[in-house]
Amino acid sequence: MQIETSKSLQPFNTFGIRATAAYYVAIEDVPALQLFLKSDYPEPDNMLVLGGGSNLLFTGDFDGLVLHMLNKGIEIISEDENGIEVRVQAGEVWDDFVTWCTERNLYGVENLVAIPGSVGAAPVQNIGAYGAEVKDVIASVDTVTIEDGDLRTLTAAACGFGYRSSIFKRELRGRAIITSVVFRLQKSGVLNTGYGDVQKMLSERGITDPRPADIAAVIRSIRSAKLPDPAITGNAGSFFKNPVIGEVEAKALRASHPGLPCWPQPDGTVKLAAGWLIEQCRLKGFRMGNAAVHDRQALVLVNAGGATGYEVMALANHIIKTVWLQFGIRLEPEVNIL
Ligand SMILES: Cc1cc2nc3c(=O)[nH]c(=O)nc-3n(C[C@H](O)[C@H](O)[C@H](O)COP(=O)(O)OP(=O)(O)OC[C@H]3O[C@@H](n4cnc5c(N)ncnc54)[C@H](O)[C@@H]3O)c2cc1C
Repeated sequence: MQIETSKSLQPFNTFGIRATAAYYVAIEDVPALQLFLKSDYPEPDNMLVLGGGSNLLFTGDFDGLVLHMLNKGIEIISEDENGIEVRVQAGEVWDDFVTWCTERNLYGVENLVAIPGSVGAAPVQNIGAYGAEVKDVIASVDTVTIEDGDLRTLTAAACGFGYRSSIFKRELRGRAIITSVVFRLQKSGVLNTGYGDVQKMLSERGITDPRPADIAAVIRSIRSAKLPDPAITGNAGSFFKNPVIGEVEAKALRASHPGLPCWPQPDGTVKLAAGWLIEQCRLKGFRMGNAAVHDRQALVLVNAGGATGYEVMALANHIIKTVWLQFGIRLEPEVNIL
């Protein structure tokens, strides 16, 4: 494997931030990665496993080693009358995998269409959209441990999935590299059309008996109307997580802000819409330097042209402070800050 130095990371992050990596390695096969980790390589203090760079903000140059996961492959490992299990290499593009599934009329990932990034990163924050989370189709996750280069497989239960969270964001952060993911997909099932305008748009299109590909097409079109395309305007999707608070706190907040959208959770907590809170602070479209809050979606921060990561972070901190002062709610970034 070839180690490159002073590698530009600008093409590898969807914010389009200019930053360099002191050391960079493109990983195209797992045995080579294992050999590398087992070798006597000069281990840097800092390591970053990089996928599509769509959930990252570089606030400066990265002074360590970037391992860029580019290994490819989709392999069916078992099949019966109900469904299939498929192993997908970490470097596959997530949205290409969704298309692979919908083209075969497989059920399970259609609501997660058009989420940027790699398959290997999908379990890290348990990607979710339109009422679905990737944890529900993951059977197991294959990893290589950075410390010894050994392969380890974690069952879905061992991954500790939660809202935008998993063991890979917590205990295994900086310790495990996801090399492939095994998904279980169904040959038939109930489609989730209850979220947002999905059902409305299906009706407008005259679709009464939708297939996974129809759901994916509808959601792709809704998303592209709402979210800025990173190829045109640098961004990393939702910058903040939706805050989750206690029932009593939510009731009190709702009494003073009757329009507050609240989603009760099975564990008794209540999820709030971070975008609504930001919008109420009149920050939609707000610009600070070369960073801005998107004018159609307050949860998305954008690179308005030549922004530094520092500028985006300054805007994020301004939003956190303003929302805290107005609502007493502390927003947490969903994006990984480096
Ligand atoms: C326009 C837009 C829309 C988005 N919409 C959504 C959405 O609807 N729902 C949602 O959940 N997210 C959304 N996102 C966020 C993002 O797409 C996901 O978090 C995605 O899974 C990130 O994948 P990535 O490969 O780009 O990860 P990266 O940004 O490269 O990395 C993200 C984190 O995962 C770690 N990581 C990456 N690959 C691996 C690996 N193989 N092994 C171990 N750790 C790894 C990195 O170290 C980093 O900590 C959106 C982003 C954009 C730009």
